[in-house]
Amino acid sequence: MPEIRQLSPSVINKIAAGEVIERPASVVKELMENSVDAGASRVDVTVAQGGTESIRIVDNGCGIRPDQMMLAIASHATSKIEDAEDLFNVETLGFRGEALASIAEVSRMTVRSCTDGATEGAELEINGGKAEPVKPCGCPVGTSIEVRNLFFNTPVRRRFMKANQTEMGHITEAFTRLALVHPHVHFKLQHNGRVTQDLPAADNWKDRIAHFYGKDLADALIWVESEEEGIRLSGFVADPVFNRSHTRMQYLFLNGRHIRDRSLQHALREAYRGLLLTGRYPIAFLKLDMPSHLVDVNVHPTKLEVRFQDARKLYSQLLSTIRNKFLSTDLTARVHEHSERTDTAGTPAASAERPQNLGLSYPRSDVNPIGTGSQYSGSGVGQFAGATPIVPADNYRLPESFQQALDSSNLPANTERLDVNPAAADVPSQLPVSTLGLQVHNRYLITQDESGMLVIDQHALHERVLYEQLREKILAGELETQRLLVPEPVSMSGPEAAAAMEHKALFEQIGIEIEPFGGDTILVSSYPAMLRRVRPAELIRQLIDEIMVGEKQPDRRDVLDELMHMMSCKAAVKAGDPLTPEEIHSLLMQRHLFHDTHHCPHGRPTALVFTRDELDRRFERT
Ligand code: ADP
Ligand code: MG
Repeated sequence: MPEIRQLSPSVINKIAAGEVIERPASVVKELMENSVDAGASRVDVTVAQGGTESIRIVDNGCGIRPDQMMLAIASHATSKIEDAEDLFNVETLGFRGEALASIAEVSRMTVRSCTDGATEGAELEINGGKAEPVKPCGCPVGTSIEVRNLFFNTPVRRRFMKANQTEMGHITEAFTRLALVHPHVHFKLQHNGRVTQDLPAADNWKDRIAHFYGKDLADALIWVESEEEGIRLSGFVADPVFNRSHTRMQYLFLNGRHIRDRSLQHALREAYRGLLLTGRYPIAFLKLDMPSHLVDVNVHPTKLEVRFQDARKLYSQLLSTIRNKFLSTDLTARVHEHSERTDTAGTPAASAERPQNLGLSYPRSDVNPIGTGSQYSGSGVGQFAGATPIVPADNYRLPESFQQALDSSNLPANTERLDVNPAAADVPSQLPVSTLGLQVHNRYLITQDESGMLVIDQHALHERVLYEQLREKILAGELETQRLLVPEPVSMSGPEAAAAMEHKALFEQIGIEIEPFGGDTILVSSYPAMLRRVRPAELIRQLIDEIMVGEKQPDRRDVLDELMHMMSCKAAVKAGDPLTPEEIHSLLMQRHLFHDTHHCPHGRPTALVFTRDELDRRFERT
């Protein structure tokens, strides 16, 4: 019969330590959080050998009184909450009163601390949980905690530590998470005697981000904010041009604490749908501020995960805030100048309006096309199904080089005879010449706008344009459909036919009417006009495939979106299709009619931008 025994406090603490202190980075996180909670304006983190040898954190916070030193390292002792009620009103990073006790249990730790106005400080040594008496010591106001030989008395944990470099990577990440969200604190990180990060206090968040990730990224950040029923979302999302193969650069801070939340990450990905290639992830720095009672932070030992009272509402707030922002922002790939003026008070001025010098500044609805009289008679435009007919204006003479380009309908063979007029480069500043382009290799269009040169993927752009048209028409219920004189039978497998009929209403929405036709055959009786070039059977099969490989419970909106993507891809001109100048013009015209035409719906870029500055630099003109 096994005997039941009460565990000793030391064993209990070791078990608890196992939860909170997983690796050296956990020590750094907990101690840095304590420093921030203590109101420090300066925190120095000094690490040796990836933290396996020593970690020292020095702050200039409020300090710990000598008579409280022992309590500070006792488990379940905290100055941050008093009763269970407080658990639902946590305003500090810590509250469990377990970190110092846990660290002390599995290391050799020295705490030195002095409070403001005290004549001397106090020092406490703890070895594997055994404390020496508190001694007086001389030290500046604040607290310094040194942790040596982590896990020396828990050999299994010690063995689990990875190479110093790996542990240092985790420490840097922990440091980054905290330093990112507290720009007003001066943080410094040193490893093996070398300063790896030195972040003087910054006035705003963006400067801090720039410090970590460089000015280019910081310049491409887009400010987003919203407030719904006491829940404030604010922060930055990166222009889709900046993206990553992982989600680690999606920083989410809840009331000043870094958290991970799968649902919100999903919302973020949704917001970038169509803007990123598969396998690429958005970059974001977002803060959520809400009254503490709307969230339970006490569900995870390291508080990395939290439970929101209304997770769905939050999901849609995040998604719609970012989507709406993207809709009002021209995302053409280039450096953006707009900036967050402040992140502490009021509405950042730049967030309200569309930044002037960002992207292409063409009028969207009242585009004033240019041309040379009869040059654009509208012929050939029809190939771009649904294209707005182009009315030529003849008040403008084209630069010679463009005239030549327009005269030659088959550019690839002719590019070398193009006489590029150097003066032309100076003309465009007043003219929206970017509706003129050259086709090269039957797949790319080269054009310019006021700030540089653009190379456009004709298929990707056309696909994007069609997608937007399709979406607008579907939303407005104005999609043109074509009744087939003879309905076309499409035979498929049993499950495919069933899936097709199950999504009958959805198909109808995109202009495809289907009916069962006995057995596993369905009949297509009407079809979107823009897809007249695509065979119904082929399209339907692909659509069904798309539906069947999707999630078990596909979201209606997702499926519709997927289908619209497919349809636009099918209907778009292909790489290799030669285009007439009119078609090039028509396509480039429409580029400006839509919100995001620099990525195709699959997320491939539709355009590369070479800014004039960059060209000047490359040609060594500067
Ligand atoms: P918690 O942070 O959850 O309260 P800790 O074990 O991390 O628990 O710390 C215990 C207590 O020690 C804190 O509540 C705080 O009063 C005190 N303390 C810890 N670190 C510091 C520090 N750097 N400066 C001032 N007080 C500190
Ligand atoms: Mg703490």
